[in-house]
Amino acid sequence: MSVIYNRVALIGLGLIAGSMAHAMRRAGLAGEIVGTSRSAETRAVAAEIGLCDRITETAAEAVVGADLVVLAVPIGAMAAVAEEIGPYLAPGATVTDVGSVKREVIVQVAPFLPDTVHFVPAHPLAGTEHSGPRSGFATLFDDRYTLLTPVEGTELEATAKLRTLWEGCGARVEEMDADHHDLVLAVTSHTPHLIAYTMVGVADDLRRVTDSEVIKYSAAGFRDFTRIAASDPTMWRDIFLSNKDATLEILGRFTEELFALQRAIRTGDGDHLHAYFTRTRAIRRGIIEAGQDTDAPNFGRTTVKKELPGG
Ligand code: NAP
Repeated sequence: MSVIYNRVALIGLGLIAGSMAHAMRRAGLAGEIVGTSRSAETRAVAAEIGLCDRITETAAEAVVGADLVVLAVPIGAMAAVAEEIGPYLAPGATVTDVGSVKREVIVQVAPFLPDTVHFVPAHPLAGTEHSGPRSGFATLFDDRYTLLTPVEGTELEATAKLRTLWEGCGARVEEMDADHHDLVLAVTSHTPHLIAYTMVGVADDLRRVTDSEVIKYSAAGFRDFTRIAASDPTMWRDIFLSNKDATLEILGRFTEELFALQRAIRTGDGDHLHAYFTRTRAIRRGIIEAGQDTDAPNFGRTTVKKELPGG
């Protein structure tokens, strides 16, 4: 593939930006990759492992002359970053982000962007429970979806170019409205994470089962919950605070279903349970047929499996 953007500025150098740097390099998509992170420590690690061609101390410096700027910080930090870089953005540049919630990022970021730049919010549906500049890898986005939620009035060409970049990074790309994105993600990612956090919290609180028993006898179900519940606390706090309405709606529905299952167990309604589990099993089959997970027993895991659905 050939160069799509001459200079890409990565603001934030964690898992997602780091993986983008590796993936862009793998396919030669960027003329130059400039990166920055708020802490000197992260910048030093990024420099040490050669994550970018150039590291700057500030976000304002990083975006000068960049034709693509990627905001890859926690959602709660997006507004401050946008405010800092706004005056330094090159006319005609595209600004994008990788935040796991889209409407709130648009609300926070758009007011700080000059009319001369294009804003194309994006969300790669890929991640792991690891963070930081060392956690990225080139194949993270391969065959995973990246959703683009262009704002009204965005030039089609700017969106098309960003789509080409993500496809070059290995992703399948689709476009959707920001509100719809937030509802879909509340179902597929945000509420399941909340449930995993709760289940791990319950096990921790349950004094009748000792911690060592939980660890020793942890079967696949609980082990997978603990992996999800080990995700970055800052990122997930921000996701729930910024996707409040959709998460609360899905959580409400979840609670209703849970009560129905609770009742079926109490009243011995095996038919209800069996019919319910038959329906849910078909959903799993659909995910496998769509190529979004493996059919291998225990997720094809031998000892450790790195990839997880992202936020
Ligand atoms: P990460 O590995 O924890 O890296 C976060 C980066 O943001 C670091 O460079 C960090 O800087 C910087 N940062 C943290 N707080 C900041 C603040 N208050 N102001 C400025 N910079 C700050 O995070 P990540 O997993 O790459 O996530 C980045 C974004 O991607 C988030 O918006 C998240 O919603 C989204 N996302 C994540 C996943 C996932 O599964 N991880 C999946 C899809 C999308 P220092 O290290 O210098 O402190």
